[in-house]
Amino acid sequence: MGQSGELTYCPRCGHRLAETLLETEDRPRLVCTSCAYVFYQNPRIVAGAIPIQDGRVVLLRRGIEPRHGYWTFPSGFMELGETAEQAAVREAKEETNLEVAILSLLSVYTRIEAGTVAVVYLARVVGGAPQINKEALEIATFLPQEIPWDDLAFESTRWALRDWVRRWGER
Ligand SMILES: [Zn+2]
Repeated sequence: MGQSGELTYCPRCGHRLAETLLETEDRPRLVCTSCAYVFYQNPRIVAGAIPIQDGRVVLLRRGIEPRHGYWTFPSGFMELGETAEQAAVREAKEETNLEVAILSLLSVYTRIEAGTVAVVYLARVVGGAPQINKEALEIATFLPQEIPWDDLAFESTRWALRDWVRRWGER
């Protein structure tokens, strides 16, 4: 990786990549100086499920960096070979031990500075019992008025919970 975090060497042939403005592109790309491979850099997709149980939201306190010790709902990077819904359900199981079923899409949140797009679903808890693990120091449920707004992990956590609270109020 280069100093600014971008790839320096071609993933295909190992030669050096150089920032190049190609005729077919509207912005400079990292292009291999040997085999002309174009290394496109695009946002990564995060999938998350907000588990709801009796009108309360299930949150976990992160046991890993970044934002160790701060609250969020289960979410994580999608893997190849799964749908966004499957990724959200998988992350919920991994991070809380809860089995959830997707109810609906809440919304999609772009964090430009992080280069991520979060696809966030509302889900209901259908099985399992909350269990702490290396990714979760603590797991707890909150009513809208109990959400620890000052101790949330990410901007997108706040945006999504704000949208959940808004919907909760509409019921
Ligand atoms: Zn190359």
